[in-house]
Amino acid sequence: AAATGRMAGAEALVRWLHPGRGLVSPGTFIPFAEETGMIVDIGEIVLRQACRDLRRFGAASAGFKMALNLSPRQFRQTGLVHRIEEVCAAEGIDPAQLEIEITEGAMMADVAGAIPMLDQIKTLGCMISIDDFGTGYSSLAYVKQLPVDYLKIDRSFVRDLAVDLADQAIAKTIVTMSHSLGLRVIAEGVETQEQLEFLKQLDCDEIQGFLLGKPMPSDDLNALLR
Ligand code: MN
Repeated sequence: AAATGRMAGAEALVRWLHPGRGLVSPGTFIPFAEETGMIVDIGEIVLRQACRDLRRFGAASAGFKMALNLSPRQFRQTGLVHRIEEVCAAEGIDPAQLEIEITEGAMMADVAGAIPMLDQIKTLGCMISIDDFGTGYSSLAYVKQLPVDYLKIDRSFVRDLAVDLADQAIAKTIVTMSHSLGLRVIAEGVETQEQLEFLKQLDCDEIQGFLLGKPMPSDDLNALLR
């Protein structure tokens, strides 16, 4: 959280440790998994592992949210909401601790279909964020209709925030607009103190990036929470 410095949550990220090739980057295998449909199984594994991790963190994770990236294909999957509900119940996790991230592009590809799905996810109690916001050509009229809690400012607007006046204007507009619509804002890809200071001045709600925490195994996160 930008104002207090409190750790608000973590984003579950998947890594593939291949026996021969070593660590394969998600940029390499996720597009392929999306194309073949394997992303649905991978998403299921990530969901279950995230809930298990939350349970393992126990009381240390009270008020802590875990963000899960939903792929476009998962988002179109029937029974997804029921599955999230089942896994939460099986692991004893309150769905309110999960924040479901959907990219702006995936949401905008089928807004009419997205709204009922998002409504179901909200009813279950999860929070919803629009990921990579600013890259998916969404109309503000749509954002107003979507039952979302957070907008995540895409890292491409954050990178040169300290020096680029256009990026500053975009970031400022996203924060102001979001707050007027009752949404909270998370900035992605924050790596420098200058970026952080600027975002704090804009009253950006939450900050994510290497400056605050690099991707780490869940054991390390557990230790950090304690
Ligand atoms: Mn994300």
